[in-house]
Amino acid sequence: MVPAMDQAGIHYRVEDDFPDYLRDESRQTGWADSISFPLSTDEIRDHLRYAEARRELVTLQGARTGITAGAVPEGGHVLNLSRMKRLLSVKKEPLPTVVVQPGLSLAEIRTAIREEIGSKWFFPPDPTETSASIGGMIACNASGARSFLYGAVRAYIHSLRVMLIDGSTLLIRRQANRASNRSFEITAECGRRIAGALPSYRLPSMKNASGYFAQDEMDLVDLFVGSEGTLGVVFEAELSLRPNPPVQFGLLAFLPDENGALAVVRRARAMARIKPETEGLAALEFFDERSLALVRNEPAGTELRLPEGPGVAVYLEYHGHQENFLEDRVASLSQHLEKCGADPETAWLATSEKEMERLKAFRHAIPEAVNRTIGERKKTNPGLTKLGTDLAVPDDRLDDVVRLYREGLDRLGLEHVIFGHIGNNHLHVNIIPRSTDEYEKGRQLYREWGRAVVRMGGTVSAEHGIGKLKREMLMEMYGPEGIEEMKRLKACFDPDSLLNRGNLFSY
Ligand SMILES: Cc1cc2nc3c(=O)[nH]c(=O)nc-3n(C[C@H](O)[C@H](O)[C@H](O)COP(=O)(O)OP(=O)(O)OC[C@H]3O[C@@H](n4cnc5c(N)ncnc54)[C@H](O)[C@@H]3O)c2cc1C
Repeated sequence: MVPAMDQAGIHYRVEDDFPDYLRDESRQTGWADSISFPLSTDEIRDHLRYAEARRELVTLQGARTGITAGAVPEGGHVLNLSRMKRLLSVKKEPLPTVVVQPGLSLAEIRTAIREEIGSKWFFPPDPTETSASIGGMIACNASGARSFLYGAVRAYIHSLRVMLIDGSTLLIRRQANRASNRSFEITAECGRRIAGALPSYRLPSMKNASGYFAQDEMDLVDLFVGSEGTLGVVFEAELSLRPNPPVQFGLLAFLPDENGALAVVRRARAMARIKPETEGLAALEFFDERSLALVRNEPAGTELRLPEGPGVAVYLEYHGHQENFLEDRVASLSQHLEKCGADPETAWLATSEKEMERLKAFRHAIPEAVNRTIGERKKTNPGLTKLGTDLAVPDDRLDDVVRLYREGLDRLGLEHVIFGHIGNNHLHVNIIPRSTDEYEKGRQLYREWGRAVVRMGGTVSAEHGIGKLKREMLMEMYGPEGIEEMKRLKACFDPDSLLNRGNLFSY
């Protein structure tokens, strides 16, 4: 047991002083001996060396909005980076970048960019939860609704500074540090050379946040993005920005049933991209009947006056740089929507920032309402947690996966909602168990789906990461050999597996 405070006054007891820091948004609770909140790189190094000398586990935390228990400790020390919140530098030419510390939240980064660079540039990743820290977003390769157009966080990381468990630091710049086939070599700033082999598995072709990124000749920045804090602590990140499209609008359309929604998806995809990664359909989202029912009584749902009765909804968001973009798109969209069975009278068009924010609040209200419902049920049955899927499949398997979800849920009669990033074939099924029996059935069903999705060429995590909750599924996806290769890779950076042990795979 570490003393309540060590000689530098930097460790605190977790259970007594900071009990909330044993949890994240997965609502799992862990255990730990001590916690610290470093404010500088030197302080991070002190904590890591202190832990390494004692062979003590270290769990990294950002804002703890993760939903796979990646930031939930299983003993040892908690290193919470949320107080390292400085914007370190801003570069305006030739293309703007900002260098930030890991604890800055997405909301704070957006404000800083507006203040320092202006509103012509923006940082596109948008994992809905704006209190997420950039360190956590990088560790999970976070993405969200707009990744349909812009991709995940990975695409916006220009360089990283990472501290390893022994306190040595790496500076890894995009395009400057690359693998050779599947081998890599990196020299730490102290001169220590780290070399090894990348896993040999093939990554799925869609949006993916499952395990280490591995490709021939890959940029080594990408090895750390999405590595879930298992290789090192991200203590500085240089983020690249994109031109902010001056024309943005969102449309929430209500449809009689899921078949209509799938038809909208096919049509919208066919007319999706104008200029890849800069202009076109930015988000394509789906909300089933139960999601709408759940959110109808929430403030965001009441404010929008969601239509009563059966039916589903699709949200389309477009970003453009031309003045006539809005008129052109809305005209052709209305025709398409009508052909798919939507009633244009009930559709909700948002063109101003304020209106877009309201639609976003509506979308955010769904996972929050689910979390609140499960929170209530936990009061009488603490073992219950929501089961939220994060599976994605290739484009041509979307209809199959929707059928798969419906068949399983109907067969077992489980309470649920289905919503999310249908444009990326990435729907979140949230099973909301009412009893321990339903929870166990839901877990079993999720595992079945994971296996089926892998057979379809899909991924077991498209955006939330693996954490400690989906290790079995990762094994399903890459097989025992893939997991062994990942373990060997981790050992190159963290030989005793002290850092974030339990994330991705068991020790
Ligand atoms: C309502 C809601 C909606 C959400 N929607 C989305 C969504 O649309 N898309 C999406 O991608 N996610 C979503 N999330 C999940 C979550 O917001 C993201 O995973 C986010 O990236 C986590 O950031 P964090 O700072 O909270 O990280 P934490 O939860 O604190 O940690 C996440 C992981 O990162 C590691 N980590 C944290 N900081 C560092 C660091 N500096 N260096 C190395 N490793 C580190 C942790 O050890 C852990 O493994 C949602 C969450 C909620 C609650």
